[in-house]
Amino acid sequence: MNFLEERIMKDGIVKEGNVLKVDSFLNHQMDIRLFDEMGAEWKRRFAGKPINKILTIEASGIGIACVAARHFDVPVVFAKKSKSINIEGDMYVAEVESFTHKCKNQVIVSKKFLSPEDHVLIIDDFLANGCALQGLISIITEAGATVEGIGIAVEKGFQVGGRMIRNLGFQLESLAIVDAMDASTGEITFREQ
Ligand code: 5GP
Repeated sequence: MNFLEERIMKDGIVKEGNVLKVDSFLNHQMDIRLFDEMGAEWKRRFAGKPINKILTIEASGIGIACVAARHFDVPVVFAKKSKSINIEGDMYVAEVESFTHKCKNQVIVSKKFLSPEDHVLIIDDFLANGCALQGLISIITEAGATVEGIGIAVEKGFQVGGRMIRNLGFQLESLAIVDAMDASTGEITFREQ
């Protein structure tokens, strides 16, 4: 088991509805030493890629992305969630359905911060059905920039997102892949990597 899998075993809580709660170390209270280890691991897995920017999505991706960015020495841009339908023309826009909140959000990135010269690493906390990633990928594509890879903390391997993103040919590096979890026993099974 790697360091993140060990931490999920120790402090993660399996909830009904296929939700893994990791709010004591990942997306509410944040363990920055753990984030630092995650950043170092992604740096190793994406070695040699010409990454000059990290893109994430608010809110829970931001902390992880910022600590990871220290290892890549690049700026972080986060896609903002916006309910407004009157988005000005100087924004890239994508529609994202939230797995946890069951609502649709528009996410926006200013055209000032993504351009065809950018080689982008996407970072996020969870991968479930892949809606958040699809939105971020479409924004990068619209900007004419390049997706160099995708770093995810926890992939839920029993949902469709991981397979879909790998089938599209992206280098997807999930630090922990949960293949099964049981809310009644609390049991979590990780994929061998
Ligand atoms: P997707 O767009 O891939 O369906 O879901 C990704 C987003 O949903 C993540 O950014 C994360 O915020 C949230 N999410 C999905 N599944 C879980 C889960 O099991 N636990 C938590 N805490 N968040 C999740």
